Amino acid sequence: MGKYRIHVSTENCTGCLRCQLSCSELYTKSFNPSQAMIVVDVWGADCSIRFTDECNECGVCVDQCFYDALQKTKREDDK
Ligand code: SF4
Ligand code: SF4
Repeated sequence: MGKYRIHVSTENCTGCLRCQLSCSELYTKSFNPSQAMIVVDVWGADCSIRFTDECNECGVCVDQCFYDALQKTKREDDK
């Protein structure tokens, strides 16, 4: 279980893929969205966001989302 609980607001997602690029850069040392542990699928004005089983909830991708499509809360703050 990761340090953070990650929340998704799909309606804010622009499909910029900064989240995927940051995750793949951190964990595979390459800018390769297909290697990321967050998966953003965009079709037209709609998109979906999901995380693979390998995601450790580090929160790095959240910090790189400038559009409030991703948020994080510390698990220790869970009520
Ligand atoms: S979740 Fe955020 S960083 Fe990722 S594609 Fe959507 S807007 Fe971009
Ligand atoms: S929380 Fe960390 S491991 Fe999970 S998708 Fe985001 S950057 Fe990758």
